[in-house]
Amino acid sequence: MEHSQTKYASVLLDVAIEKALDYGIPDTLEVKRGMQVQVPLRGRLRSGYVVEIKEKSSFSKTLPIHSILSEEELLNEELFELAIWMSKYYCTSLQQVLQRILPASVRKNVSHKQQYKVTRLLSKEKLRALCLELRESHALQAMVLDVVLMEEKGILLTELLEKTGTSRSPVQTLVNKGALHLEQVRVDRSPLTGQEYFKTEAKPLHEEQAEALEKICKTLEEKRFETHLLFGITGSGKTEVYLQAIDRALKLNLGTIMLVPEISLTAQTIERFRSRFDDSIAILHHRLSDGERYDEWHRIRRGEAKIVIGARSALFSPVKNLGLIIVDEEHDNAYKQNEKQPCYHARDVAVVRGRMSKAAVILGTATPSLESYYNTQMGKYTLSKLNSRATNARLPKVEIVDMRREFEKAGGYTTFSEPLIKGIKKRLELGEQTILFLNRRGYHTSLFCQECGHIFTCPHCDLALTFHRGEALLACHLCDHRLNPVPRVCTSCNAPETLKYKGIGTEQVERALHALFPEARTLRVDGDTTRHKGSHERFFRAFSTGKADILIGTQMVTKGLHFPAVTLVAVLNGDGSLHIPDFRASENVFQLITQVAGRSGRGDLQGEVIIQTQMPENLTIQQSAKQDFEMFYQTEIATREMFSFPPFSRLVKLTFSGADSALTEQSANQVRDVLIKGLGKEYLIHPIVACGHAKIKDQFRFQCLIRGMHVHPITTVIQQLSGVPRQIKMHVDIDPLSTFF
Ligand code: ADP
Ligand code: ZN
Repeated sequence: MEHSQTKYASVLLDVAIEKALDYGIPDTLEVKRGMQVQVPLRGRLRSGYVVEIKEKSSFSKTLPIHSILSEEELLNEELFELAIWMSKYYCTSLQQVLQRILPASVRKNVSHKQQYKVTRLLSKEKLRALCLELRESHALQAMVLDVVLMEEKGILLTELLEKTGTSRSPVQTLVNKGALHLEQVRVDRSPLTGQEYFKTEAKPLHEEQAEALEKICKTLEEKRFETHLLFGITGSGKTEVYLQAIDRALKLNLGTIMLVPEISLTAQTIERFRSRFDDSIAILHHRLSDGERYDEWHRIRRGEAKIVIGARSALFSPVKNLGLIIVDEEHDNAYKQNEKQPCYHARDVAVVRGRMSKAAVILGTATPSLESYYNTQMGKYTLSKLNSRATNARLPKVEIVDMRREFEKAGGYTTFSEPLIKGIKKRLELGEQTILFLNRRGYHTSLFCQECGHIFTCPHCDLALTFHRGEALLACHLCDHRLNPVPRVCTSCNAPETLKYKGIGTEQVERALHALFPEARTLRVDGDTTRHKGSHERFFRAFSTGKADILIGTQMVTKGLHFPAVTLVAVLNGDGSLHIPDFRASENVFQLITQVAGRSGRGDLQGEVIIQTQMPENLTIQQSAKQDFEMFYQTEIATREMFSFPPFSRLVKLTFSGADSALTEQSANQVRDVLIKGLGKEYLIHPIVACGHAKIKDQFRFQCLIRGMHVHPITTVIQQLSGVPRQIKMHVDIDPLSTFF
């Protein structure tokens, strides 16, 4: 049968095809750009998105679109523009970009009409017995029962399948056996229902807060694009400004997106926002099930949720009439996607989305990124400063402790300096709390042979193995390879009793602390102790309710937390990442120390901060001790300018990885040659070098760094590359955070 058709749609398919294909639009269908449609491809129906409607097709023969899958456009015009911009800027296919922008459940159309709930028909005891019985013969059914046994009130089928990774058939078998019950449900998966919040009122603002808010509200009222950098020291009341700006946006019937680093998406944060705005909020965190995400996404799209709070990817929410975008802790590296293309920086894309939607953008932080602050100096962003703490809390006193002298006094290596021991002792006596920060988890950070110098490294990665005392094994922090039991003899020279451990991690700090203060109650928060869902929250709640005296932790304890009883914070090894040969090393150290220090003295009690370092004369350490961002900025921006690093140039990093080291390096060099030919002399194409982690999971890694004034000419040349051998992967990172790893 001939379909009558007057127009064509170019459709991007979900299956891995890089290019959009043309299909005819039958008269019976009203197809719009952004819709999800079903089209035939090689005798099968596939789903895809309409990227363009056109009068003519460049193909001589086209098949017609079969049907429309989404009743409305999944991507509104604005998100579509953003996707196209990202695809070009981040040098990534539109397909891959759309995979970031649309949640999987939305793309796959996990509609709630098809939801099934699985509940127990037998008692827990009987199910446990059945589970044991099936373990050997029917492992999949046993796995299903394992999960069902953990869920008190039953579980959605989709979640069950996701958790077990099985098909529906073992579940059906268990239903047929009369062990489980399967029923169709229309569930409200909103993760917030059932929780009650006390309503809080807007606080009368301090002068600086009011000034900042006024500037932001002006932008909102005029419905135009402007980026505001809200630079306020920790505890200065930035969040209160956000809350009142959102309130104004609501009154103007404008939607808001607020981004926070994933780790600070805690009950503490959620509660603060819920208590002001209740129902109009959607909160997107990584613990949402597919179904919940689907529901939230559509609630936002329909305009029922006007405020969206979430981590990085919440930026792509289909908020109606978007008027305000807030990026809290804008300096945070977690906003950058490093692993997968598109390697986007959510803060930067937030500004782009703001420009496209004519929205006000607020970047808030206590330690602005060099780029953002530079933009205020250039007049691109509007600067508002909050210079004092909002409550009567004062800024903490900071002391730098020279560890070289401490080592002399102690006659060898020591984890705790004398001033720190005194400080902890005093807190224990007063019943106040302490936070100890160390950027390494595990017990010892390496094991080596004193005879031949051999270091035990991961067989798959270029990294020393870390000793974990609790589990009594060596582990790789890149690929999680485990060596168990720990070797007693050097595998390289076979010399007996020559092995020695080096370097301390949080696990050892905790143990050493118990030796010094047997009565102290400690909590350790790092990648090892927080593997389980919700464990962060539990730790932080325990600490804030006084169930421990000392919190020991990695990066995780530096961000956004508010513990009024903490009066001492110590950075155990302030030099940490200063040794990493990277242009952002100083910036990272400055931010880290300032953020950690900001956890001290947030209540009525005066806080104290101790920074232990072997480089007390280092300028960055001194500036962060003074919490003097202006000074730091002046020094650092001068260095960046001198060496022509961002913001005075743009960087693109190409990473090549493959199982064959020589072939990988060779391919990298071939690409480099093409880049040299394709780009003018104004572009600096660095020689190919091994990455900071030269091998990860048996893949050798090499990188090529390109530096120049603009990104576009670089991506243009990259797009025209004829490609690398199939065994080699090329990864494009625009505006990379690190030039080392
Ligand atoms: P930041 O986000 O800058 O770290 P917060 O907004 O969390 O700061 O404010 C720190 C503390 O000060 C909070 O307990 C908050 O409730 C309080 N606060 C903020 N603004 C005011 C204000 N105008 N009056 C009284 N208290 C305030
Ligand atoms: Zn490894």
